[in-house]
Amino acid sequence: MNDCIFCKIAAGEIPSQKVYEDETVFAFRDINPMAAVHILVIPKEHIANVLDINESNSAVISHIFEVISKIAKDEKLEKGFRVVSNCNEYAGQSVFHLHFHILGGEQLSLKMC
Ligand code: AMP
Ligand code: ZN
Repeated sequence: MNDCIFCKIAAGEIPSQKVYEDETVFAFRDINPMAAVHILVIPKEHIANVLDINESNSAVISHIFEVISKIAKDEKLEKGFRVVSNCNEYAGQSVFHLHFHILGGEQLSLKMC
C-alpha cells in the first residue's frame, strides 16, 4: 500500500522511534502519547484492521502478542498495562493499518470506553 503511513514506517521510509523490529513485526512509540508509555505494534504486512484478520494472515497476530509480552517486560510494565486495537469509525480508528496500542507506565483510567 503506497499511501499507508504505517507501511512506510515499517519500511523505514518515514522515521519513527523504533522499539522493536523483526521480519514480520514492527513497534514504535506513538507520536501523540496517551499514557506515560504508549507504543504501537504493527504487522509489516498491510492489514487494515481486525475485520481483515483471517486464516491466511492470522499467524502474525499470535506473534504480535509474543512481541507485546516482550515489550511490556522491557518497558517494565508488569504492574499493569492495556492493549487496544481500534476498529473503524465508532472506535475512532484513524490509521487504517492494523495496530495494537500498548498503554501503560502509570495508573490508567478504569473506564473502557
Ligand atoms: P488509531 O486512532 O487507533 O487509528 O491510532 C493511530 C495512532 O497512530 C494515534 O495514536 C496516532 O497518534 C498515531 N500516529 C499517527 N501517525 C504517527 C506517526 N507518524 N508516528 C507515530 N505514531 C503515529
Ligand atoms: Zn499499511
